[in-house]
Amino acid sequence: MNDHAPIRFLDLAGQQARMAEPLRKRIETVLRHCQFILGPEVAELESRLAGFCGAAHCVSVSSGTDALQIALMAEGIGRGDAVFLPAFTYTATAEVPLLLGATPVFVDVHPRTFQIDPADLEARIADVRRAGKLAPRALIGVDLFGQPADWPALAAIASREHLFTLDDCAQSFGASLHGTRLGKAADATAISFFPSKPLGAYGDGGALFTESVERAALYRSLRTHGEGTTRYEVLRTGMNGRLDTLQAAVLLAKLDIFEADLAARERVARIYDARLGNRVAIPVRVPDSTSAWAIYAILLPDAAARDRMQEGLKAAGVPSAIYYPKPLHRQPAYAASHDGAALPVSEDLATRIMALPIHPDLSDAQAQRVCDAVLASV
Ligand SMILES: *Cc1c(COP(=O)(O)O)cnc(C)c1O
Repeated sequence: MNDHAPIRFLDLAGQQARMAEPLRKRIETVLRHCQFILGPEVAELESRLAGFCGAAHCVSVSSGTDALQIALMAEGIGRGDAVFLPAFTYTATAEVPLLLGATPVFVDVHPRTFQIDPADLEARIADVRRAGKLAPRALIGVDLFGQPADWPALAAIASREHLFTLDDCAQSFGASLHGTRLGKAADATAISFFPSKPLGAYGDGGALFTESVERAALYRSLRTHGEGTTRYEVLRTGMNGRLDTLQAAVLLAKLDIFEADLAARERVARIYDARLGNRVAIPVRVPDSTSAWAIYAILLPDAAARDRMQEGLKAAGVPSAIYYPKPLHRQPAYAASHDGAALPVSEDLATRIMALPIHPDLSDAQAQRVCDAVLASV
């Protein structure tokens, strides 16, 4: 780590340098055997990932979005169904129910952990039952920015309301709640290997975890065009949703350094917590959890203060980003499906949230430089 090097928001080259030789070997093995679709690396990766989070089954797929879609397809979710999900998340969470003809029902989030709010979920389920137009079918809980959602509370509500629970863990694989890694907190868990996620591939990819042998078999069928026990028996409408062997090879090399990467992200988060905590609103940790720190988001007093902070950081050579500038119910693509319920926390966060650089190859000295720049612009 070069302390005087430019500060990057993400440093995939730095990570690559730490695993260059094993990565090259993994890729060369694939180039030798030429099994580019469902080669041996895919099964090896699935078994390693299931072991990592203690899940019974792992099915790798072509992206995090496709993981969400396959999970909802397997439950037969479609027209007339309500799928509850947070308004403050990445677009893919809401896109998938709509693609299947279902209706996303937006739920507000906690103002300081940014996670889906169980009390608002209960209120929104009651709204939908009262309106009587849609059947409450599923909850997509998102583990936002690396931290876990409140899964014990969400699962209790879902069980009472007979909802299928899908954990959108695209940003948070590696995080834990009450001493258990995410991967079996819901009926199914979807993760993403988009390159900027904590465990990223060198292209698109994703995976599903479940404790159910029946669901795992359905996921395998759906990712290969709905195939049955033989390749040319088509049992159901599926999709082309497999993970490439080459991406599995990259991920196997990355898995060897994943624990170290998570520890390094936590190291940076602690520096930010310690130096910024009494001057700006730092992310509040979910009790009894660990974070994968995909994103370290601070809150400024208002939009003008955020603009000034971003300008100040830019002048100091510190990159920053905004996740998310608009809550989903305000997006042109989704506004028409929103029932008009107030989502005040999601709207407020969008105006004043801001993310600081966090990645394993950010040195202590670079993290201190980020803090200097933040404190100079408060
Ligand atoms: C990245 C992301 C996804 C989608 O994953 P892809 O692999 O890019 O399709 C879904 N949900 C959330 C919350 C994400 O951050």
